[in-house]
Amino acid sequence: MERTFIAVKPDGVQRGLCGEIIKRLETRGFRLCAAKFMQGSEDFMKNHYLDLKDMPFYAGLCKYMSSGPVLAMVWEGQNIVKLVRMMLGETNPADSKPGSIRGDLCINIGRNIIHGSDTLENAKREVDLWFKAEEFVNWTPCYQPFLYE
Ligand code: UDP
Ligand code: MG
Repeated sequence: MERTFIAVKPDGVQRGLCGEIIKRLETRGFRLCAAKFMQGSEDFMKNHYLDLKDMPFYAGLCKYMSSGPVLAMVWEGQNIVKLVRMMLGETNPADSKPGSIRGDLCINIGRNIIHGSDTLENAKREVDLWFKAEEFVNWTPCYQPFLYE
């Protein structure tokens, strides 16, 4: 089992898309491990996006990410890092296929509503950055034997 970090960004929260995003992850069969509704500081977002620090959009991105509430979540499932990236679509919603979250729900690259870890290594780093051990709930969904062989 893998875990990944997913956040509904301030634009997704403001547009009332938290429920739609959770619904897609739940119906795919992923397990919610931890969740919190919070507003992070600009420094916190600078750390979260540290690998993009040399990009021209870095400062604006971190400012925007700290400008309002985000729904931060950890989800678990087989191969989840890759599968969630496919569900997200491309970074630019204009390149994202219909059926993907970004391809269905947003238009602009700077307002692409959702974050999902891109590699297992980054997922581990992001999960540890956003959540403490005591914030996780250990539970087994009743459908587990019907979802996995
Ligand atoms: N971003 C942007 N302009 C760009 C590229 C990225 O505003 O030209 C923002 C966008 O919100 C994106 C985030 O920076 O989701 C992180 O970029 P990354 O390349 O990691 O894309 P992601 O992993 O979110 O698809
Ligand atoms: Mg990324």
